[in-house]
Amino acid sequence: MRRWVVVWLVLPLLLGFQQQQLVNRERMTELFLQLVQIDSGSENEAEIGRFVADLLKQIGADEVLVDNASEKLGGTGGNVFARFKGTAPAPPVLLSAHLDTVAPTRGIRIIKTETEIKTDGTTILGADNKAGIALIIEAIRTLREHNLPCPPIEVVFTVREEKGLLGAKVFDKTKLRARYGFVVDGAGKPGDLIVGSPTHFRFEVTFIGKSAHAGVEPEKGINAIVMAAEAISAMKWGRLDEDTTANVGVIEGGQAMNVVPDKCKVVGEFRSHDPKRVESLLAEWKDICERVAQKFGGKVEFSAEKSFDAVQLSPDEPIVKAAMKAVESLGLKPNLKRMGGGTDGNVFVAHGIRCLVLPTGGENYHSPSERLVLADFYAMGEILVRALVELAEKSGSGQ
Ligand SMILES: [Zn+2]
Repeated sequence: MRRWVVVWLVLPLLLGFQQQQLVNRERMTELFLQLVQIDSGSENEAEIGRFVADLLKQIGADEVLVDNASEKLGGTGGNVFARFKGTAPAPPVLLSAHLDTVAPTRGIRIIKTETEIKTDGTTILGADNKAGIALIIEAIRTLREHNLPCPPIEVVFTVREEKGLLGAKVFDKTKLRARYGFVVDGAGKPGDLIVGSPTHFRFEVTFIGKSAHAGVEPEKGINAIVMAAEAISAMKWGRLDEDTTANVGVIEGGQAMNVVPDKCKVVGEFRSHDPKRVESLLAEWKDICERVAQKFGGKVEFSAEKSFDAVQLSPDEPIVKAAMKAVESLGLKPNLKRMGGGTDGNVFVAHGIRCLVLPTGGENYHSPSERLVLADFYAMGEILVRALVELAEKSGSGQ
């Protein structure tokens, strides 16, 4: 009997906390709708950058600046950086999202229902990553309005993420004091916490043969396309193991039907959560290309470049613990996950800032069927606010 009394006393309290709504849903949705109206394909982030820089000032940032990323990268617009004082003596936290979107975005027509926001299907929506920007801004507003304990916050909204994390790469990371943070950018459900992403290498291989008339004297030629084909078929592609994928994405070569082609270029990638595995695959692939070129009496130019380093956070890191507690406070189960792609988080982690990636409530990214699921978007707002309160309650060096 007594146990039931306790349950009846505690349950409403528990449910009350779980259902307590902190973020202003209407305001967050309104901001999202404003953001998606601003066209901001990669290299065209100046307008959205100005918009969010002004907004960061309005909501009380102590410092806001737009950097000169475009001088280094071309295009217009720079990374937007802002600093907010905390109300708790906790270590600073980085919050990051990206300003650019993939194409097509021009002439966006929004359809909003009770449960979702999408487009008419002729353009993408841009929830990747405008939902992330709206979540970060609303979380900061909520913390301040409700006088919740809040760590010092550093915001970085990057340009050219979709072009290979370029904005984050050129951003002056010495400005950042944060040693951990949230990158709010990704598909997934509330409760998903992305703690791992792979090392990524891009390669470009050019096989060089010799051209000749294909009908008159083919024996004088060395066919570069045939070389490429032999090399490609000697290597394994696709999902190689649980941690690793490989892809040939582009092949270009040849001028005409009746000419033995003297050049063939192959572009592709390797990804793995195990960095050593990627390096050994690259060595194997290079070896195959060289062997084939030699067999044909041709040449090969091989180049490979690391796009980003793998991330693997452990469940005991403060940023992961805080996110897990936030998820649990909503009555959800934390789901620590790895993703196959990279985010700006990979760049910040390489700089020593441990970044957890939070989903935004969007689905079908990079496609015209992209949509924002409002219930998930709102839940992510609550999770972000609660995780920041958790981090504020950590004692630390402060600032
Ligand atoms: Zn994104």
